Amino acid sequence: MLFTQNKPIAEVLESLGAESNVFLLACNGCAQVCETGGEKALSALEAELQIAGKNLTGRACVDFLCNKVLVATRLSREMDKIEAADSILALTCGIGVQVVSKVVNKVVHPSANTVSLGGLQGLWPSDERCQACGDCVLDYTGGICPIAFCAKGLLNGPCGGAQDGKCEVDPEKDCGWQLIYERLAKIGRLENLKKFHKARDHSRMLPSKDLRETSFYDIEK
Ligand code: SF4
Ligand code: SF4
Repeated sequence: MLFTQNKPIAEVLESLGAESNVFLLACNGCAQVCETGGEKALSALEAELQIAGKNLTGRACVDFLCNKVLVATRLSREMDKIEAADSILALTCGIGVQVVSKVVNKVVHPSANTVSLGGLQGLWPSDERCQACGDCVLDYTGGICPIAFCAKGLLNGPCGGAQDGKCEVDPEKDCGWQLIYERLAKIGRLENLKKFHKARDHSRMLPSKDLRETSFYDIEK
């Protein structure tokens, strides 16, 4: 179970910027349980976007947006509507946004922040990684998480220590920011690198009070 919380609508609209044609995509898995995904949240967000004057080219709900095969199969039926869109707005966790970004050559905006991976059920079938930072920036980084794929978790570009595209901390691994650069170049969004991100608020990585509660199974009653 990956826990997500909706971003404020003003933040979602700011990230969409001048993009007026949007394809809406929601996850029916964990996000639906958190009320950030599923049909109900999709309809609510659709109404907000229409008030803001956005044109919706299409919409879809997928059972598990963390599953690439499922996502690719489902979205192959929607490609005309996705191609008509400037971007996709995804109602899902950080893993779901990464998966959609790997399946479709479009910017994918997260409508929610992932705040916890939630334990045993926080499983997904592939190599996407999320550190549950509580402030998802995947639309600026082409769907590659800078917190999980840069050894230093840098938000504003590379550290300068990479050699031949490999990370200076672990030369066996690709530099996360090299991957981000290549991905942004592929989807025509290199201008994203000009955006400055303020220092991260690490308190957003703290699990909420609800998630910190535990329970006992006391047989001595
Ligand atoms: S930026 Fe990375 S760590 Fe933060 S919510 Fe998005 S995928 Fe997770
Ligand atoms: S080399 Fe790249 S991945 Fe490694 S710490 Fe520097 S910016 Fe991050």
